[in-house]
Amino acid sequence: MRHVHWVKNLKELIRRTSTDLPADVEGSIRRALKHEARNSHASWVLGTILENAALARKQGVPLCQDTGTMIFHFGVPVGFDTNALLASTRDAVALATRDGYLRQNTVDAITGASFATNVAPSSPVVSFQQGARKTVDVRLILKGGGSENMGHQYSLPDTDLDAGRDLEGVRRCVLDAAWRAQGNGCAPGVLGVCIGGDRSTGYWHSKEQFLRRLNDRSEVTVLARLEERIMRDARRLGIGPMGLGGRTTLLGVKVGAVSRVPASYFVTVSYMCWAFRRRGVLLGPEGGVQRWMY
Ligand code: SF4
Repeated sequence: MRHVHWVKNLKELIRRTSTDLPADVEGSIRRALKHEARNSHASWVLGTILENAALARKQGVPLCQDTGTMIFHFGVPVGFDTNALLASTRDAVALATRDGYLRQNTVDAITGASFATNVAPSSPVVSFQQGARKTVDVRLILKGGGSENMGHQYSLPDTDLDAGRDLEGVRRCVLDAAWRAQGNGCAPGVLGVCIGGDRSTGYWHSKEQFLRRLNDRSEVTVLARLEERIMRDARRLGIGPMGLGGRTTLLGVKVGAVSRVPASYFVTVSYMCWAFRRRGVLLGPEGGVQRWMY
């Protein structure tokens, strides 16, 4: 494995993710703008977001000053050297930080002291999945801290929400999470939802939903219907971009389900801000780019 190829292309993935808003996200903001009243706060905010995205892309600078938690998902061939891949990823993060595509915003949990390279315990976050494949599939999400603060986990039944252990209960939880955010976490947001799991896997799987494209449709019919229903309901909340009012409180809701134990029924909601930085690349056995994704 030629370390230098991997580092170069992983760094390029970070650059693209940090500076170039994916087309599905930008398209969704553009469509939302058409549905807001002219000269309203909502249309002003959405217009400013689009200008910001265009400027970041043109100048090659981060979309937001909080470049967030780096979450890498790797799909690798069986027997692949994941230790070497992790080392390349860490070097790529350090170089991307040096070149300004990532801000130095990884800090010690106790002292608050900054890690100059963004490489630290648990940073970047990585997961490896081996499979019958020849290429390495890399997906990166940069998850802003303000949006992360707006995530919630519910244990059903929840008497305050009158939410039982069914899809209606799930719907109530998801709308509650959007309502509680009140535009904080930089709305319009996207909600990733996991039904089931335990407290830790619930958050992990809810964030995996962010790997889906905004305009896709769940293959599970009841979940696809639930996503559509929540989007309709969210338009009526009136919270709007940055909480300044309007129809566009959410750009999307993506719901997945995993197994659970009979005693628990968790609904976990992760919140992604408008700066929805998610990119991917398919790398060949020697680290060469085969295809960029998103
Ligand atoms: S929540 Fe998102 S848009 Fe807001 S400051 Fe954080 S990263 Fe930036």
